[in-house]
Amino acid sequence: MLKDKVAIITGGTRGIGFEIARVFLENHAKVVIFGSKKESVNQALASLREEGYDASGYYPNLSDFNQIAQVVQGIKDKYGHIDILVNNAGISANKKIEDTTVEDFQKIMDLNVNGMFNMTKAVVPFMKEAHDGVILNTSSMVSIYGQPSGVGYPTSKFAVNGMTKSLARELGSFNIRVNAVAPGVTNTDMVAALPKEMIEPLIKTIPLGRIGQPRDIANAFLFLASPLASYVTGEILSVDGAARS
Ligand code: NAD
Repeated sequence: MLKDKVAIITGGTRGIGFEIARVFLENHAKVVIFGSKKESVNQALASLREEGYDASGYYPNLSDFNQIAQVVQGIKDKYGHIDILVNNAGISANKKIEDTTVEDFQKIMDLNVNGMFNMTKAVVPFMKEAHDGVILNTSSMVSIYGQPSGVGYPTSKFAVNGMTKSLARELGSFNIRVNAVAPGVTNTDMVAALPKEMIEPLIKTIPLGRIGQPRDIANAFLFLASPLASYVTGEILSVDGAARS
């Protein structure tokens, strides 16, 4: 479904992003993963290679626009075009507001919001030039209802939805579609890091009776990246087993 499309996936070294990379490769995209460290990027590329897939990877600081612009220019020079951007890198939080420092809050916004803005700003000129492109953002079910602690995380994901809907309107006339996927609780390291007391009550509220697997989420990204979603833009697609917390 993505034959010869060039896709950049941030946070592509593990969890949801790694599975998006895998499902895009299965569908014949050319995949470039971004991670936070050289070692994790190399490890992810090695795992993909073991499965028979050839991808490339970088580890720019997503808070640094100039660094990103340089790397993105290099990708454009190498492949000739950039068709799909998946802004997936993100960190979570679970402290009460009294325990959340100004720096904690800033750190989340820097990656989850500023990083997304920086990546998008770097890629859009090439998509405009091609009059073609797909931008996909990883939101969260907490972007709809908030959560009872770790306020920076839902705040950042509300911003993700705002950026998604606004850029869909701004870029539609350039044939660039912008959508987000809002996963529910998904079986990744991010969830493993959260306290049991937070996760177990959540699972009880999920009508499908289980947490999501990375593949459940990656398939939604595949749909939105593919021509099957040619008239879908500005959408926040919940993929959460109907969890409503
Ligand atoms: P994960 O912790 O398994 O993976 C996070 C990815 O982000 C990694 O590839 C990591 O390299 C990258 N990353 C982390 N910090 C970074 C930094 N400072 N700079 C660059 N990259 C960095 O998490 P995941 O569960 O796969 O989460 C991926 C996305 O899905 C996030 O945006 C998260 O908010 C969202 N999400 C996850 C869940 C869930 O339950 N797991 C639910 C809803 C939304």
